Amino acid sequence: MSKTLFDKIISREIAADIVHEDEHVLGFRDINPQAPVHVLFIPKRPIATLNDLTPDDAELTGRLVLAAAAFAKAQGFAEDGYRTVFNCNRDGGQSVHHIHLHLLAGRRLAWPPG
Ligand code: C5P
Repeated sequence: MSKTLFDKIISREIAADIVHEDEHVLGFRDINPQAPVHVLFIPKRPIATLNDLTPDDAELTGRLVLAAAAFAKAQGFAEDGYRTVFNCNRDGGQSVHHIHLHLLAGRRLAWPPG
């Protein structure tokens, strides 16, 4: 699989505003934020889409969700709420083929999404 932008963020070839890092997960602010707080949580191991997950990835995907929830809570959004989204392929609006969990917070979000 060729390197995506997110591989280059992980390796620091491309700069990003990193807000979370642990052994398995990186969190950084989206370059084109759709809410006052918009952070992407990605696994350090590249997985192209949700279609490529296997049962062996259950812990890793749980780590993405836990990292997003902990960040939202630490930033004070637990009570008012926030949204987390995984986009998948064309109809889901996925543009970077390295799975990423969007965390959007800081404004009232509409539902359903467009
Ligand atoms: O779900 P989707 O694949 O569309 O999300 C990719 C996200 O990556 C976009 O929200 C885009 O703004 C973000 N991005 C980024 N930094 C880059 C390239 C894209 O934060 N260098």
